[in-house]
Amino acid sequence: FFITLEGVEGSGKTTQAELLSIWLESNGYEVLRTREPGGCLIADRIRAILLDPAHQGMAADAELLLYAAARAQHVAEVIRPALARGQIVICDRYTAATLAYQGYGRGLDLDLIRTMNKLAVGTARPDLTLLLDYPTTAGVARARQRNRVNKGENEGRFEAEDEDFHNRVRDGYLQLAAEDKSISVIDARGSIEEVQMRLRQALNRRLPL
Ligand code: C5P
Ligand code: MG
Repeated sequence: FFITLEGVEGSGKTTQAELLSIWLESNGYEVLRTREPGGCLIADRIRAILLDPAHQGMAADAELLLYAAARAQHVAEVIRPALARGQIVICDRYTAATLAYQGYGRGLDLDLIRTMNKLAVGTARPDLTLLLDYPTTAGVARARQRNRVNKGENEGRFEAEDEDFHNRVRDGYLQLAAEDKSISVIDARGSIEEVQMRLRQALNRRLPL
């Protein structure tokens, strides 16, 4: 079973993915938790290129191809083998992120991105995507705060993007959810525990525990 977590900057994906995997393991499941971009050596190296703040000049189509390359490697090396072993895979960001950021955010053609996604993942499509919906202004503020705390690990070129960009990404995610019943929208406002309970409820409906 393949679960992906999506949402804007600072929506709480990483924290919630961690709690979800602990909960699933305590229910006897074997869980593999991973993230994109990254998740294996080659893809982590591509991640470093993608997120380097010095790379503001990266062309949008070059960026799309790097995301696809990182994903193809991650699927081949990590995700597909884990699913074949019968593990539950929880991935922090996946194909919907590319549609939301490079498609709705940067304006690249959605059908082209769908084709790239298909090339990268083959049959490794998520069974369930949990979209953590969170207000962009608050999310960006949280992500900035986090990056200040983990100094040196400053991730992302998102700092350079304006409010409109982040709003297009959020609205794009919601649009994708409206068109795809494998995407569940979760209200990510409130405490960590409250959001975690909402995620478990959404997962309980799909997974026999
Ligand atoms: O999930 P995380 O916050 O670690 O993502 C790292 C960065 O990659 C984010 O700042 C996000 O804006 C960026 N990103 C992107 N396009 C994607 C996926 C992530 O610009 N398709
Ligand atoms: Mg995160």
